[in-house]
Amino acid sequence: MSTILKLVVFGCILTVATSSPCQLTTYSSRKITGHNGHSIRIDSGFLGSMQMMHAAARYCNLTVKVTSSFRKQGQPVPGSIVTPATHSNHLVGRAIDMNVVTPLGWCNSKCLQARKDKYAVCFIDGLKRGGLRWGGDFTKIDPVHLDDNYYNKFPTSWLELFKQHQTNC
Ligand SMILES: [Zn+2]
Repeated sequence: MSTILKLVVFGCILTVATSSPCQLTTYSSRKITGHNGHSIRIDSGFLGSMQMMHAAARYCNLTVKVTSSFRKQGQPVPGSIVTPATHSNHLVGRAIDMNVVTPLGWCNSKCLQARKDKYAVCFIDGLKRGGLRWGGDFTKIDPVHLDDNYYNKFPTSWLELFKQHQTNC
């Protein structure tokens, strides 16, 4: 995000863009949009995962409605039935929560877990094959959740991202 400063210098108006220290990227595509005005904010390193979701959504004939992405620590999760994890990948912008809209209709948490909507199953299984983690496989099941397992794979980098995004965003 950048802000525009207008400065008057020697009678001229200069427009200067200053960049905010927050380095999150805002994402949306024809297949993936924020639900209810949610702005999808992610770490730039998660962009490839979002692009994979976009490709899977196209292939499986559905659209993705993102209900949560980057979260500030301590931020309440609307409508959540799962206690947020201490090292949640949401805290570093490398996780999303979503529902999907398929030719069979709206597929929410219960529908995703039931695995009866073949379009939704195609999407979830495709992403798992691509290396993403699905919350429906967690011990505390969370069927709307997808992430790249960043904390377990790269705990040191996770901490650096945590400091960076939680401080600056
Ligand atoms: Zn989640």
